[in-house]
Amino acid sequence: LASLEVQPFPTVLEFPTGKTGGGHVMVAAGPCGVESREQTLKAARYVKAHGAHMLRGGAFKPRTSPYAFQGLGLEGLKILAEAKRETGLPIVTEVLSPEQVELVAEYADVLQIGARNAQNFALLQAVGEAGKPVLLKRGMSMTLEEFLMSAEYILSRGNMRVILVERGIRTFEKATRFTLDVSAVPVLKSWTHLPVWIDPSHPAGKRDWVIPLALAGLAAGADGLIVETHPEPEKALSDAAQQLHEHEFAELMDKVRRLVAAL
Ligand code: PEP
Ligand code: MN
Repeated sequence: LASLEVQPFPTVLEFPTGKTGGGHVMVAAGPCGVESREQTLKAARYVKAHGAHMLRGGAFKPRTSPYAFQGLGLEGLKILAEAKRETGLPIVTEVLSPEQVELVAEYADVLQIGARNAQNFALLQAVGEAGKPVLLKRGMSMTLEEFLMSAEYILSRGNMRVILVERGIRTFEKATRFTLDVSAVPVLKSWTHLPVWIDPSHPAGKRDWVIPLALAGLAAGADGLIVETHPEPEKALSDAAQQLHEHEFAELMDKVRRLVAAL
């Protein structure tokens, strides 16, 4: 169902703040995790002011260590709802299990499936039935064919609103956190009509490298970005090193606008 042979024109997803696919670029931005009302509202206000189209923020966090910050859960979803009421930005937030889908779908405009759950087939089927667009991250060790098969789990349940996100894969290189597979963009776009986004934050692992990776993704033809930014990144409870300061996010948006206009 994802194939261009089935649908020979790009899928365009429309939100009140913008469109993605078919030449339209959107930017989702916000903190890695929802940590407090103040932190999230601050981030929501400035990402909106700098031109973002969607607010990201994890309420349920899939942490590598069970002892690390796991997110605020339902309280986090309520904070995101308040940020949406104030800014009008649609919300993208992660769902970790099939049991959580109904709850998260009450608050989220887009359901995020994380890299670590990219082959959780029960979860993929559950979001396929939730009636909300899905932002599907590529697993860190998935081939592009496997990635599209994960998308098929969602599409085959009747949900055609899927965004594919390249967020870096495991290679032998240790300088970056993951290796952004920029080739995923042209390859996926030659196979599928679905929008393809880049997450430059998780492969970079370090804020200095986020802007160049984001621009590389867009130059390669990506239909959107999902980027982490935090009002006080040094104090972040997760992914502190890679979240952009507000001024860096502003610089990113300025460069994104100029690049998109030139493409
Ligand atoms: C995230 O977006 O905060 C996240 C956990 O990303 P990923 O699933 O790509 O690691
Ligand atoms: Mn993160």
